[in-house]
Amino acid sequence: MRTVDCIQKKRDGIALSPEEIRHLITGFTNGTIPDYQMSAWAMAVCFQGMTPEETACLTMEMADSGDRIDLSAIRGVKVDKHSTGGVGDTTTLVLGPLVAAAGVPVAKMSGRGLGHTGGTIDKLESIPGFRTELSREQFTGQVNRIGIALTGQTGNITPADKKLYALRDVTATVNSLPLIASSIMSKKIAAGADAIVLDVKTGGGAFMKSLEDSIRLAEQMVDIGHRVGRATIAVISDMNQPLGFAVGNALEVAEAIEVLAGGGPADLRELCLELGAHMVVLGGKASSAEEAKRLLSGLLDDGSALRKFHQFLLAQGAHAPAEQLEAASADGENSALPQRLRLAELWRSRLPAASRTEEIAAPRSGYVAAIDAESVGVAAMLLGAGRETKDAAIDHAAGVVLRRKIGEPVKAGDALAVLHYNEVIAGDRLDRAVRRILDAFRIGDEKVDPPPLVYAAVTREGVRMIKRESPI
Ligand code: URA
Ligand code: CA
Repeated sequence: MRTVDCIQKKRDGIALSPEEIRHLITGFTNGTIPDYQMSAWAMAVCFQGMTPEETACLTMEMADSGDRIDLSAIRGVKVDKHSTGGVGDTTTLVLGPLVAAAGVPVAKMSGRGLGHTGGTIDKLESIPGFRTELSREQFTGQVNRIGIALTGQTGNITPADKKLYALRDVTATVNSLPLIASSIMSKKIAAGADAIVLDVKTGGGAFMKSLEDSIRLAEQMVDIGHRVGRATIAVISDMNQPLGFAVGNALEVAEAIEVLAGGGPADLRELCLELGAHMVVLGGKASSAEEAKRLLSGLLDDGSALRKFHQFLLAQGAHAPAEQLEAASADGENSALPQRLRLAELWRSRLPAASRTEEIAAPRSGYVAAIDAESVGVAAMLLGAGRETKDAAIDHAAGVVLRRKIGEPVKAGDALAVLHYNEVIAGDRLDRAVRRILDAFRIGDEKVDPPPLVYAAVTREGVRMIKRESPI
């Protein structure tokens, strides 16, 4: 088989056979197909697209290009969740313990953050003692014992995707729906998922800016899932402003603890219930999304989700003084506070806090019309919450806490957001962060409605619109 013939075929709009796709992916992974040929093929895909059969085949070839995680030793349906990337997206921290408390096994592999989006591993490592390097046996053993474990990426997962994504990045070929869909799905499948819930973000702060593109991406991923035997559901959710209020590692853990204790920001709680409900249905623990949502609300409000979080932290090495642990976890009726609030306070008190805070004041009165999520993420990164390069150290305490969201009134001088940072912050980074936040907020004279949180759910049966207003 000649690589040039595969490229020519795709250039002319003809679908490749499974053998041709395998030839391209195995050859590219092992280095016998050079970058220039793979780039030409990727560019042809950008113009000609791929058939659903080709896209599913590409997905499985990439999933099989390296190690596949075998989760068969874990009982139950392993449902994974993936977000296409948001700012201050704290859902994974909430959803893990929440769906585990509902009886769905959570065997999560997670990454570190790069740039303005945070990684779940970084967030959890802000808790003193939390370990993310588990052996395969520890990992599966812990899921079978307590229903949840989280580990850093180990082994050689989807090397074909890694190499192809890097090539796409420098050849202007990222922007192709079948290439994006297969890239995301290959990683979930290699990580061992039986079923997948996708949170496809849409809007200014998202990878997909328009609702139409977000829905098309979701449809392609759902189609791939069904073709390769992984039940897949996608939720299209808003990223026209950060989710919740907190952006930054320890700050987001604190926010997740609030939601797990039955409180927290309404948008974060609601999106977790929406995504979690689909996970619980796919995991076979409820027969409808409505039933699952009621179940999950109950687990947040009665302390079960937070108790699962507590168990999860202790299992992964997080520590707290023995007497505090005992006082917080006691069932005792002689305590003034319910157990869930004592556990929440215990773990909140273990998180690092920044030595300095600075309020960003509104330059004028009016209504918040827009908050550019990416700028808020960049401001948090400048304060030390994120990495500009792959191996940079991060400051777990640093970040941004919003005080206003879209649609809320402000008076000149009111705080729009609070910056959290430590005095070691270098050079003009603080000034740049302040400017970023001021630029992120648009304040207008007219009252605006907040954007919908969830726009649509995409399943095998089709697209169900939940709210249609176009993003602000
Ligand atoms: N995220 C991915 O993992 N892959 C893509 O191609 C685009 C976004
Ligand atoms: Ca948040």
